[in-house]
Amino acid sequence: MVIGMKRNNPMMKIIRVFIYLKPIDKTRYGKCKRCGSCCKFTYACPFLIYDKNEKAVCKIYGIRTYVCSKYPLSDKYHETRDVCGFKFKRRSDFSGR
Ligand code: SF4
Ligand code: SF4
Repeated sequence: MVIGMKRNNPMMKIIRVFIYLKPIDKTRYGKCKRCGSCCKFTYACPFLIYDKNEKAVCKIYGIRTYVCSKYPLSDKYHETRDVCGFKFKRRSDFSGR
């Protein structure tokens, strides 16, 4: 995270365009539960809708940005970790093997 800037600061949306140029952390596992929480981070995306099963649907899925498709990039930038289906192995998980 940028020093001194809170995660929910709208400026983080812009800064993430550059941060997300990095590759996805290799320790990521799990899958998207389509909760839609990351599409509502800082503000609700106008392309977010919900189907009849209350699963999130992106109206522009095929052309969504790489920031959307790579979320969550790493544990550091995993703002919705409490509800997200993706997780990251912590360094301590690898120790003692
Ligand atoms: S463009 Fe689609 S994937 Fe990206 S935040 Fe909006 S609804 Fe979510
Ligand atoms: S927060 Fe995680 S589980 Fe929910 S829509 Fe985003 S990537 Fe999928």
